[in-house]
Amino acid sequence: MAFMLDALTSVLFAAPCRICGDLLDDARLLPICAGCFDAFQALAGPLCGRCGRPRVVAPSVTIVPAAGVTAHGASSVVPELPATDEVCCRQCPLGVYRFDRARSFASYNLPMRKAIILLKYMGVARLRAWFAERLERIYLADRALFPVDAIVPVPLYTLRLRERGYNQAERIARPLAKRLALPFLPLLLVRTRPRPEQLLLSRSERWNSVKGAYAATLGARAEKLCILLVDDVFTTGATLDACARALFAAGAASVYALTVARAIPLYSGADLSPAPAPVPGVSHIGRTKRVAVLA
Ligand SMILES: [Zn+2]
Ligand SMILES: [Zn+2]
Repeated sequence: MAFMLDALTSVLFAAPCRICGDLLDDARLLPICAGCFDAFQALAGPLCGRCGRPRVVAPSVTIVPAAGVTAHGASSVVPELPATDEVCCRQCPLGVYRFDRARSFASYNLPMRKAIILLKYMGVARLRAWFAERLERIYLADRALFPVDAIVPVPLYTLRLRERGYNQAERIARPLAKRLALPFLPLLLVRTRPRPEQLLLSRSERWNSVKGAYAATLGARAEKLCILLVDDVFTTGATLDACARALFAAGAASVYALTVARAIPLYSGADLSPAPAPVPGVSHIGRTKRVAVLA
């Protein structure tokens, strides 16, 4: 029986790998070869306790964040950092992100970019389940990091949704909610204005383009709910930040986020040095750190 199934899937995918073009030499439920799967760079620790960015320790680098100053001017209020004494990246002590915590499966390298395109524009159905399973593993690896009540996908602008026919974030979030037996709330958030037409956006353009671009659906509330946002890619974090702000405005108690990929230029996936021991009794905010981040 197993042999027959293998034979069947061989026939189904007797085709090139959809990422690199090499012929698949064995039976696969996904049209991606082993080499391309191996090229996905899962994000390895130590990670920033808040945004999940991988860190490297560089003793010569000293970062003194200025409390109340943000990289993009979105807020002068520094959100509370996680209760645990985790060491953060350079961005988080500046109050850049409003969400409580974010984690991603892998670096947004070239093979992952192509995999996301497969998901986004070519509707490779099994890829959604595969990505959902990766996010489930992150969630289950430390459930205490994600005390959530419900799952919400990052919404697409209505017109974009009509053009594409589906929301790729929803296509990952729905099977994830099912696997975790959590309520799935795809209509809680809406995108109130479209992304700018231009293909490439600078970092500040990205932040400006999503500022205030999400809101709770008219009449919807997220009163005291702990929400898990799901999206395909964490590029600058601006989208997750804007969604988190909309959810908090709708009454959410906390907002967590999981994405399949995260853009981290120059990420090598190499083993990173251990994080420096936290200093007892010292707040993250305004603390001098001997931590540098990649890129
Ligand atoms: Zn391949
Ligand atoms: Zn961070």
